[in-house]
Amino acid sequence: MDSYKKNYKSFSNKECEYYPCHKTKDDINCLFCYCPLYQFGKKCEGNYKYIDTKNGKIKDCSACLIPHKKENYGYIIDKLNELNRFSNIKAVAMDLDHTLLSDEFETDEETMSIFPKLKEAGYKSIICTARFYAEAYYFAYKFKPDYMICDNGARIVEYKDEKEKVIFEQFLPKDIQIEIIEALEEFKDVFYVFETEDDLYINNYKHDKKYLKEALDYAYKTQKVLPKLNVHIFEDMKEIPKEKDMTRLYLMDFLENEKLQKTLSAIGEKYKDRKLVYICSFQSAYEFGILNKGDALKILIEHMGISKENIMSFGDSLADIPMLNNSGISVAMGNAKDELKAVSDYVAESVFEHGVLKFLEEKLF
Ligand code: SF4
Repeated sequence: MDSYKKNYKSFSNKECEYYPCHKTKDDINCLFCYCPLYQFGKKCEGNYKYIDTKNGKIKDCSACLIPHKKENYGYIIDKLNELNRFSNIKAVAMDLDHTLLSDEFETDEETMSIFPKLKEAGYKSIICTARFYAEAYYFAYKFKPDYMICDNGARIVEYKDEKEKVIFEQFLPKDIQIEIIEALEEFKDVFYVFETEDDLYINNYKHDKKYLKEALDYAYKTQKVLPKLNVHIFEDMKEIPKEKDMTRLYLMDFLENEKLQKTLSAIGEKYKDRKLVYICSFQSAYEFGILNKGDALKILIEHMGISKENIMSFGDSLADIPMLNNSGISVAMGNAKDELKAVSDYVAESVFEHGVLKFLEEKLF
């Protein structure tokens, strides 16, 4: 029994007429006589070359000793498990800001190339962002994904045959929405964004004109590709049509107003039983919504007729954790917080080094 324990990881079949089948001074482990990693082609990471034969190209492993070294049993099993996990992947979900888009929040050739490459390799692409539809639409227009989860999970859009179809929408309960908007009326020095079906409302935020300009630049850029979008700059909360359907409420409190923060958390607490999600997503950004990216990904997975194991996702912020948790393979960006890296299966290079593209090229393409 003890010798079995010691030897199940390797044996040398010296009686074999081909033994030793590779040139080496060590004993050859014949357990993996036929390398189990062969089926993974170029992704096996061994020492192979492709040679031309009359039947086409074949992979020549004659210079590779990886499966034949006694100490490599664990490596082969781990690699096999890893490659099997990756071979399950059918769709890739990617956050936008600081995952696909760096500080300039713009697209570049490398990032743009991810989407046609995924399509060519037979994978579905999913943008999964907290951004409002009106902002996210601009990137969907450029990247042309198969699906987009936006409004932090409250809206799912499908892109098929050059047509866009909303396949899921979750609006805030009207009574809660009205109560929050009315409660915010007294707080003027805050940056607000409200979105209704075809309208985007941004307040004339005087404290940081640069921030306001950036937000408006985006809105106008989107308007160019989405002409039905109306952009409003409002002065008073009373101008907001608080009865209209909204997926989420978003604000940035750069001045860290204590009274406002208390008001927000009191509303979050009051309605937590009605699944109202109140989060401080980053720095001074606060929002109310009903779903998160992970809930939406579950809905989309069901719509696509696939399972969690078929999804690989990339994210950088703590708001991405529900999405990563609902994926077969989770990848944190190199620029992500350590807390996110700790709960992810892999860490890619940072967004500044095109981490998503590099990871996909190494593991999937
Ligand atoms: S023998 Fe080496 S090169 Fe060939 S499939 Fe196995 S690991 Fe890859």
